[in-house]
Amino acid sequence: MTDLTAPRVTGHYFDGRTSARRDVTLSLDTFGVLHVEGSGVDRFEPVAGIAVSEPLGGAPRLLTFRDGAYCEVMAQAGRDAFIAAVGPPESHVVRAQSRWSWAIGSAILLLVVIAVGYRVGLPWLAEKIAERIPASMVTTLSDQTLTLLDKVAFEPSKLPEERRTRIADRFRHLTPPGGLPVPHEVLFRASAGIGANALALPSGTIIVTDALVKLTENDDEILAVLTHELGHVHERHGLRLLVESSVVGFVLTWYIGDVSSLAASVPAALLQAKFSREHEAAADAYGARMLKGNGLSPALLASMLEKLEASHGSPGAATDDKSINDYLASHPATRERIEALRKY
Ligand SMILES: [Zn+2]
Repeated sequence: MTDLTAPRVTGHYFDGRTSARRDVTLSLDTFGVLHVEGSGVDRFEPVAGIAVSEPLGGAPRLLTFRDGAYCEVMAQAGRDAFIAAVGPPESHVVRAQSRWSWAIGSAILLLVVIAVGYRVGLPWLAEKIAERIPASMVTTLSDQTLTLLDKVAFEPSKLPEERRTRIADRFRHLTPPGGLPVPHEVLFRASAGIGANALALPSGTIIVTDALVKLTENDDEILAVLTHELGHVHERHGLRLLVESSVVGFVLTWYIGDVSSLAASVPAALLQAKFSREHEAAADAYGARMLKGNGLSPALLASMLEKLEASHGSPGAATDDKSINDYLASHPATRERIEALRKY
């Protein structure tokens, strides 16, 4: 039986068309009408027209209305009793049937994308899409990625602020290849899980871990790593990889205009990024040109690759650090890269 003295929970309301999330209070009257009330929301919905999601671990329960709007109800005291009063959970089968048109549409779209992808070439497509992604979306994606990474993977850097500022300042004053400036920002973070690493977000935010800085003997070596990362930014490699790994989701997201769901997948995609040899070679070439153009030796980057290799152990070797997130997994450091850099 439902406790009628407290049929009230809090949740989030989504209108089903935009990503706007509204904090609401849900209450249930004795006539079986759900009242959703909050900032900009005041709707009454008979429970008969509400689809209730099945309980799934710690996931929020969803109450979906006929027009596609839905409420997300997080775990809280009395939540399950409240949901039970709204109605029984839909089974997977019922839900799948009610969404058959969506499912078939998705399948067809997927097949078309796969067919076109193979014929035309996913990398080519990714490059074209990446070129057309508006700067505002790139910034939003990158900012949300950094926020998420700061929550789950990073801690504030323990390096002296004076050193961080000095490195970032020096890097800012280097002349980029061809004199074409690439907007960027250098940030430092500590991270137990990621180890010695550097990664570039598509917006140009380059994150260097304290562990990587500790591997270096002088700031020139850090600058060398930064020029390589700036090469990835300049060539939009991260964005292209991201598009390749999720063309379907990306196109849909872009079409629908909801960046938030895509942003959630960005950190994992970027952290597990496996750039192709071509991307690495292009970033190395960019880095080497930038180093040379500023009176620094491309060999600095080669020696950094060797240090990273030594710190992480060569691929396949038995080491304590087999993190898939390590620098070498994301930037395959091969002998050929080191040798190529020494020849510049
Ligand atoms: Zn790289």
